[in-house]
Amino acid sequence: MGPAAADHASRQFRPATPHSRIPASPDAQSPLDKPVQFVRGVGPHRARLLSKIGINTVGDLLEYFPFRHEHQRRPQSIDSLVLDANATVIGIVDSVRSNLTRHGGPSVTLRLSDGTGTVRVAWFNAPYLRDRFHRGQVLRIHGQVGEFEALAQFVNPTVEQLDPQADPKTWDFERVVPIYKATASLSTTHIARIVDNALKETLNSIDETLPETLRKRRQLIGRREAIWRMHRPDNPEQVIEARRRLAYDELFAMQLAIALQRRWTATGAKAPRLPVTPEIDQRIRRRFPFPLTAAQNRVIAEICADLARDRPMTRLLQGDVGSGKTVVALYAALTAIANKTQCAILAPTEVLAAQHFAGIERYLAGSRVERCLLTGNTPRSQRDRLLESVAKGTTNLVVGTQALLEKTVEFADLGLVIVDEQHKFGVSQRAIMRSKKTRSRHGAASLLPHYLVMTATPIPRTLSMTVFGDLDISTIDSSPPGRQPIHTKIVRPKEEAEAWLAVRHRIREGDQAYVVYPLVEESDELDLKAATAEVDRVARDLLPGSRVGLLHGRMKNAEKQTVMREFAAGRLDALVCTTVIEVGVDVPNATVMVVQHADRYGLAALHQLRGRVGRGSKASICLLMTDSPSQLANERLEILCRTTDGFRIAEEDLRLRGPGELLGTRQHGWPEFRVANLVEDTEILMQARDDAARLVREDPNLKNPLHARLKAELRRRFRDKVAFISVG
Ligand code: ADP
Ligand code: MG
Repeated sequence: MGPAAADHASRQFRPATPHSRIPASPDAQSPLDKPVQFVRGVGPHRARLLSKIGINTVGDLLEYFPFRHEHQRRPQSIDSLVLDANATVIGIVDSVRSNLTRHGGPSVTLRLSDGTGTVRVAWFNAPYLRDRFHRGQVLRIHGQVGEFEALAQFVNPTVEQLDPQADPKTWDFERVVPIYKATASLSTTHIARIVDNALKETLNSIDETLPETLRKRRQLIGRREAIWRMHRPDNPEQVIEARRRLAYDELFAMQLAIALQRRWTATGAKAPRLPVTPEIDQRIRRRFPFPLTAAQNRVIAEICADLARDRPMTRLLQGDVGSGKTVVALYAALTAIANKTQCAILAPTEVLAAQHFAGIERYLAGSRVERCLLTGNTPRSQRDRLLESVAKGTTNLVVGTQALLEKTVEFADLGLVIVDEQHKFGVSQRAIMRSKKTRSRHGAASLLPHYLVMTATPIPRTLSMTVFGDLDISTIDSSPPGRQPIHTKIVRPKEEAEAWLAVRHRIREGDQAYVVYPLVEESDELDLKAATAEVDRVARDLLPGSRVGLLHGRMKNAEKQTVMREFAAGRLDALVCTTVIEVGVDVPNATVMVVQHADRYGLAALHQLRGRVGRGSKASICLLMTDSPSQLANERLEILCRTTDGFRIAEEDLRLRGPGELLGTRQHGWPEFRVANLVEDTEILMQARDDAARLVREDPNLKNPLHARLKAELRRRFRDKVAFISVG
């Protein structure tokens, strides 16, 4: 969401350290690496179908775990069925009928009796079942108990034909059936059968990856057993144990990679020492027209401790919108500059870079710090001149967009890189910027700059430990004094007129308003009121007599900046905009925010948007307009009405929508988890992190033969991502 930074994923990746952090696997090709076609029952055709769902090797197949398990309990008598419960029954077919339903689809209905009663069993849209059933068959049925015309009924249940000659005692068992994510041409049963064959043929090749001590400490079952049990459990408890082991494996591998990376940064990489003397501290603080808050002082102390060391800082600074991160970042920047090094500040968009620059200018008025704004928009002639003074070292502070990442930009002595809103960047940007080396002042080996990331999307702990796991974290947990509350309200279509009345009232009082739309142009697929189409309507009908401006992502940068300037100067009453304003914009007189189609945004994004108001001395209002009937959508919006605590909101968003939504669609660099779940497996994650730290402390290069398997496993898991692990 929002003004996406150009995706540089395709940019050539240049790790700062060699790939050899994780040494090459010593062993020959394992049966698990063989093409999936080697499995019995998989020919070239099936292999192609499997490849479409990411299964290329036997190992991939064995790690294609069921996405859920159906627990079929022991059969019960028909007269004991309870409505809505899941149940298994066994009975004899009394009658079979196949019909067309009212909607025209084929259906198959049967009656099944077991001596205690009769049930009705129906399948809809299952023409292939029509010829499968006949009177006298013995069937085992599993599904949810419904009711139809006074009979218990199963609709679309799982069915299995039993041998009528068999001893009925052999039918009396419970069972857990794995359900695989199927495709149109590969049913879950197909997949189960293929997996069965693969398990039979290669289970013995699955090695234990965890050292014995670790497995004991965490009471984890063996890897071979876990994989087997995940696919073929006898009971639900086995699924739980298997999941726990496999989730641990994924989280542990990731935490181990992170720990190795951190250790390398801590021991292998050098950075310039940038200490703060009391004199520097006083000089910097004089720049701010207010005393810093306790929270700001605490994180500044954390940052300064890092800067004073000769190891590169890699720190994430997180704080809610308006918590005062910019001031902290500027403190760090001025520290670097006071130590005669340069500082670069990167923002995800031109608008934000320009605003950062303008904001910093306010604090630096009259200072001798040489500073410049450098974006993709900077005219060629000017750009060349700026680049030259950056390269010569006459420029102390550069604010810019990712244009700064370009190879042509060289720094004389880059001491500190500050990246705002990191999660909008790809991981590769992080790597490139961090690989911008700088000369040592003694002319010796090159030094890495210190590195500070700022984010205003509070990141729940589980995510920061993974996606940003290679960073230390500082959190500003309270806002500067005098912040006014924001009253947030959900507005339904029938309340809209009244809401606009309130907006008009505010504007008459001299306040300003944002009116936010999800898209820039009308789209055929989505019936959205787009900003461009709506600006007239807002000006004419909703806010008559007001001065209304338009700001959206497809405008030219110069235009955008003009509009922002007009709005900031109070020459516009309302700004119709897209999420261009999502981050960083600071207009204290804006006290009203109207969000159209609020249900289409992520909670974290809405919270960011809302942070654009409530910056002045007056209480603000945020009106979330929605016509969504979805209960989930409404539940989510209500969270925003209840709390302004960004961390609470982020956690709820993570719980309700998963990590993808919170982080945006941008690739975050880590492989997806197959089993682990960042919402539910927090405890396992903590254990994995502690264990990884301990292991790296004891055996930093994984030299111990007991760790050889683990090392091989890391290589396998991070095949394509090893470069990322080893980025300095
Ligand atoms: P963030 O970047 O975290 O969203 P900013 O650094 O932009 O927050 O600060 C938000 C507002 O609070 C700015 O207008 C800034 O001038 C003000 N501010 C920051 N720190 C303090 C402070 N210690 N006391 C008073 N106001 C502050
Ligand atoms: Mg800011």
